[in-house]
Amino acid sequence: MAATVLIVEDESAICEMVSFALSRSGYDCHVAMDVEQARRIIMQQRPDLILLDWMLPGETGLQFARRLKQDRYTREIPIIMLTARGEEGDKVSGLEAGADDYIAKPFSPKELMARIKAVLRRVAPHAANEIVQVGALLLDPGTHRVIADAKELRVGPTEFRLLNFLMTHPEHVFSRAQLLDNVWGTGVYIDERTVDVHIRRLRESLMPAKCEEMIQTVRGVGYRFSTQDPS
Ligand code: CA
Repeated sequence: MAATVLIVEDESAICEMVSFALSRSGYDCHVAMDVEQARRIIMQQRPDLILLDWMLPGETGLQFARRLKQDRYTREIPIIMLTARGEEGDKVSGLEAGADDYIAKPFSPKELMARIKAVLRRVAPHAANEIVQVGALLLDPGTHRVIADAKELRVGPTEFRLLNFLMTHPEHVFSRAQLLDNVWGTGVYIDERTVDVHIRRLRESLMPAKCEEMIQTVRGVGYRFSTQDPS
């Protein structure tokens, strides 16, 4: 399950270089040439990370970053600012606007990929495409497999994403709205009860390994993934 990266940049040479490097590393990549286009893409499919150029026609990357971080539908999306400027003051204002990292042009594709991986691992571990193991359960986003005690479990695509998110945030309680935002994507308007349906299916998928109790209901709040007995 590839993580999705949106690049917002008006220089087509950089867009091409970056999208080539991203696809080669297994990411899905969307390109926007300005803020308006970026906004439309974000509402259709919430990206796992945004590469945002500082100097854009119209609204600047910095203003856009600030706006994304103020909106509850987009504030969790990590942002890496791209800039031609290398001054310390710019770096500070970028980070103050809510960017998670900052990379000065010119940069090598290798350097950029390392930054993307580091930010995703820190901010959105479920999008880092890495194997997660908690207790007896092992989830591999690369091969789309869930394994418990050397046995593969049958898990549907939505349940897989849900499990990936929960396993990368063990012991943390999430509301249905938070799960919708993080697993289904923001800008997608789905009834919160949909979450309950997929939680039930996920528990059924985990039953052959007797791991279904790891998906715990926290009454009045939501759900959590835990290796401890429910209290
Ligand atoms: Ca530019």
